[in-house]
Amino acid sequence: MHTSTFDILRCPYCGSRLDLVTSSFNETSGDDIHTGILGCQCCVFPVIDGIPVMHLQPNATVARERVEQRKPVEARRAMFGLDEVPAIAERVDGLIASPDATYRQIVEAFGEHLEGGYFLYRFADPTFIVGHALVRAVAGTVLREGGRAVDICGGSGHLTRSLMHPTLSPGPPPVLADLYFAKVWLARRFTSPGCEPVCCDGNSPMPFARGAFRYATCSDAFMYIWTKRQFVLDMLRLIDDRSKGARPGAAMISHTHNQCTWTPSHGQPLTPGGYRNLFENEQPHVFGESGLFADVVRGGPLDLSRVDSEKTLEAEQALAIISSRHPGVFAPHSLEPPPTRPAGEFVVNPLYVAEPSQSPDVTRYRLRFPTEDYEQEYGACREYLPPEVSIARADLQALAAGRVPAGAADMVRRRVVVDIPLRYGV
Ligand SMILES: [Zn+2]
Repeated sequence: MHTSTFDILRCPYCGSRLDLVTSSFNETSGDDIHTGILGCQCCVFPVIDGIPVMHLQPNATVARERVEQRKPVEARRAMFGLDEVPAIAERVDGLIASPDATYRQIVEAFGEHLEGGYFLYRFADPTFIVGHALVRAVAGTVLREGGRAVDICGGSGHLTRSLMHPTLSPGPPPVLADLYFAKVWLARRFTSPGCEPVCCDGNSPMPFARGAFRYATCSDAFMYIWTKRQFVLDMLRLIDDRSKGARPGAAMISHTHNQCTWTPSHGQPLTPGGYRNLFENEQPHVFGESGLFADVVRGGPLDLSRVDSEKTLEAEQALAIISSRHPGVFAPHSLEPPPTRPAGEFVVNPLYVAEPSQSPDVTRYRLRFPTEDYEQEYGACREYLPPEVSIARADLQALAAGRVPAGAADMVRRRVVVDIPLRYGV
């Protein structure tokens, strides 16, 4: 972690500032703390592989003891949840040491110790494309003149990447906060290099100062938070804009499930009114995800001036909730044009399988879902992914070289071709 992070970091329990405990074992270089112990007025927290661990769950306590014993590798193993499975720990450590290792290889080495899910397909799934469009529209509006973003419960940083490429803000890089150390670790190395990862518990007060951010977001996770009321009030605290001269920020919860309907991986969702109630004096706007999805599939604009009726909202599987006093947020937003240069690399969407070739110049692909469960949850991607597609070999070569030839522009727009992080392993 960079020492400037001390300006925004606070103890989640006593709220005081933190400092490096210089009498304990530490590894620093310049303004970066790689390993060490941070102290506040009430307790101590470890920094492991440059990531502050701001909670007191059992693995964090073990990891802190390992740091104090001058064992940083063992501390990382404890945070990875691998200290009692040495064979896997060694395999993961070996991959980490290799500069050629991919995100996919490391996730697969973790096996059941890290929920891999459908990460390969994440950058083109229907939930993601709505989340991405919302982030670009809302964060793009409130961060235009500076300020910082935080992606809370952001997992391995897929949407944190949307906050970074192309740059939304002249301010410092976004913070990615999640309870799962392995996920934020993977995000910093692969998915969102340059983000500032912090390991913390969404069911506890957030370890950041009031007003530290101008944009706070939580996507595809809020229905799993038990302390929802505390979480929302804390989100509002993080973007508090009452200090003199501050510009209005935004808090956004996207893809949270709806108590009125059933969905796979349901969690403990609230009703639309129940979500609104969490914001107390603020008047958040609640949107049904299907209307936003239709806007994105249509090519925009993403219309945040819409007012969905209660009846519409009650029928929705997932909702987005935005609280902001910025006049530019609740308006129609043009979608950004598809990228002409990749932030990482262009690849054919892994939902497509190449067919045996009939022509040396063209490759034919067929859309194929990995499982029936995937199809049930994400089958709406058929609205933008054609069942079959042919791509000229020359176009594939240009894409691999980081260019979008005229014949492939529509492939990128439809997400037949996706821009994924380098060494992602697709
Ligand atoms: Zn404290």
